[in-house]
Amino acid sequence: MSSDQPALLLRGGAVFDSDARTFCAGVDVLCAGGRISAVRAGTAIPNGADVLDCRGMWVLPGLIDCHVHITSAGEPNEMTNARGEPLAIRAWKAAGYARRTLNSGITTVRDLGAAEHLNIQLANGIESGLIQGPRVLAAGMGVTMTGGHGHGFIAREADGPDEVRKGVREQLRAGAKAVKLFASGGVMTPGVDPRSPSFTEDEMRAGVEEAHKAFRVVAAHAQATEGIKNAIRAGVDSIEHGVWLDDEALELMCERGTYLVPTLTAPHHIYHGGLAAGIPPYMVEKARQVLEDHIASYRAALKAGVRVAMGTDQGTPLNRPGDNAQEVVRMAEHGLAPAAAILAATAWAADLLRLQGECGRIKEGLAADLLVLRGDPIEGIGNLSKPEDFNAVVKAGRIVAGQAAERRTYEPA
Ligand SMILES: [Zn+2]
Repeated sequence: MSSDQPALLLRGGAVFDSDARTFCAGVDVLCAGGRISAVRAGTAIPNGADVLDCRGMWVLPGLIDCHVHITSAGEPNEMTNARGEPLAIRAWKAAGYARRTLNSGITTVRDLGAAEHLNIQLANGIESGLIQGPRVLAAGMGVTMTGGHGHGFIAREADGPDEVRKGVREQLRAGAKAVKLFASGGVMTPGVDPRSPSFTEDEMRAGVEEAHKAFRVVAAHAQATEGIKNAIRAGVDSIEHGVWLDDEALELMCERGTYLVPTLTAPHHIYHGGLAAGIPPYMVEKARQVLEDHIASYRAALKAGVRVAMGTDQGTPLNRPGDNAQEVVRMAEHGLAPAAAILAATAWAADLLRLQGECGRIKEGLAADLLVLRGDPIEGIGNLSKPEDFNAVVKAGRIVAGQAAERRTYEPA
């Protein structure tokens, strides 16, 4: 698909250097065959290349959201009613959500749960060029204990290590590129307490083993302290939410290199949108219970030096596709320096997802997934979350969104 595509030169922008954690002015980025082929000042323009003038602009890697439910729009009570509409209607809608996500500068997502494996089929549709969207690493369904968080909408139930193995194997058979296990209760399932652990350490370990055998990254939904520790000890790659992290959990995470994907946006919208937005009362009440402790845990994790990566939990109430970068802003608001917040949504996210050889940095050989901003994201991190102001979103060396795409302000040579 990309072989007949002209080369694209992004000329003279301030380009994000992930190692130096800063932007370097006046650098050209050449994209050829969908990949970054040169990053240096004074790059010659190849014959037939398109040129995008990036002088006075900021060029960074396309953003990576490590926790979405991209087949959901974020209606107040949508995810728990996942099967409320025919599958075909949900699929057509999901194609639109994928496009909106890409337009907002998100070029890679990990989808951590959708009914009927719709996320896997969406990923296949995007990969084959049928639908425009970010690269999707889809988990299929999550695996949870009987009656556990996510059951009935985004998770398959399993009890005992052998059934957990089978649950994970079923997702792999369906084409899952990531694995999701539920280590505790959560906000969105009625009758389930977020403070309550769910899978035992042995159950978690069986799931992790199956995933890692297949070279898949494992995410654990984990809010309760004991659930978090079971998941870390079982060897998961990331703790999602991490609402109640104690000192031992933080120590374990640092020791083992476990990532925290805080998803600060999810409870924020459930609590602040509240009953007035039509969110079910039990969700609003549980969001209230987690909100402050969640932020305190995130701050403690930063202080302890826990690795973090950006994830929104997009698809939860009022957590809309295309608004993903609000999480980067929130991560910065609650204590991460702006350059580090950018890393959490690019290089560090790629490291967590084992995509460091594919994307997340502006380096020769990696996919040419890039975001060109008209405002400095270090001075104003909010510049990341204003897609209407973007100059360009580039996926695989092609300008797919932003003002340059709309007005075609780049020059075909
Ligand atoms: Zn989620």
